[in-house]
Amino acid sequence: FLRIEHLRKSYGSLEILKDISLEIEEGGFLVLVGPSGCGKSTLLNSIAGLEPITSGDILINDKSVVGLHPSKRDIAMVFQSYALYPNMTVGGNIAFGMEIRGVPKEEREASIQRVADMLQIGHLLDRKPSQLSGGQRQRVAMGRALVRDPQVFLFDEPLSNLDAKLRIDMRTEIKRLHARMGTTIVYVTHDQVEAMTLATRIAVLKDGILQQFGSPSEIYNNPENVFVADFMGSPA
Ligand code: ATP
Ligand code: MG
Repeated sequence: FLRIEHLRKSYGSLEILKDISLEIEEGGFLVLVGPSGCGKSTLLNSIAGLEPITSGDILINDKSVVGLHPSKRDIAMVFQSYALYPNMTVGGNIAFGMEIRGVPKEEREASIQRVADMLQIGHLLDRKPSQLSGGQRQRVAMGRALVRDPQVFLFDEPLSNLDAKLRIDMRTEIKRLHARMGTTIVYVTHDQVEAMTLATRIAVLKDGILQQFGSPSEIYNNPENVFVADFMGSPA
């Protein structure tokens, strides 16, 4: 469904992503893991179209999206920093993309209500982001992506700023949302447990090179090299 073929991405003379190929089925949950600086965000940004790629192809439903403007890709992204608009209310933040696209007011309000209920932030719609906790902000960022009802969802370490307890709650919530919506997800995390719990497929990256791509049990039980074994905490 979402296919990446021989993707390369350089910044100047520095090659960041080196010949990445992988595929995720429709409704699948791909988790990208790897050490800081290995190229996870760069890969997500490439899929979203926020960064031009150097070579290779990215296909959704067998159609190349390379060269398509981000807004034409039917993809929504939740960023590492939640990147909410500080001067807008929660409701305004969630509605922002829809307003830009000219969705009529009644439809916008119905959509806001729907995702706010789903994420249990219906009581916070009139607040500003500065008046929210980290976990609530995270939900708003998710809500803003959810209202777009995209074919593909990209998450860049959405839970990294949360405390341990909230991280586990949100992990459960994301799993539930995925089961309910059946959207295809690519999700970046540092957290091996998060990867094992959420993923239908895991891709392990190091220095821009795909080390292994497989199901959680393959990756954990049959790591292809010492790096993957160490990183995933596989039994020796
Ligand atoms: P983290 O886990 O810390 O978020 P990451 O795996 O997401 O790391 P990336 O942000 O994709 O890593 O960065 C991969 C490499 O590309 C890093 O070495 C980074 O310094 C470099 N890089 C990222 N953006 C740029 C840029 N705009 N110009 C030049 N180099 C960049
Ligand atoms: Mg990153």
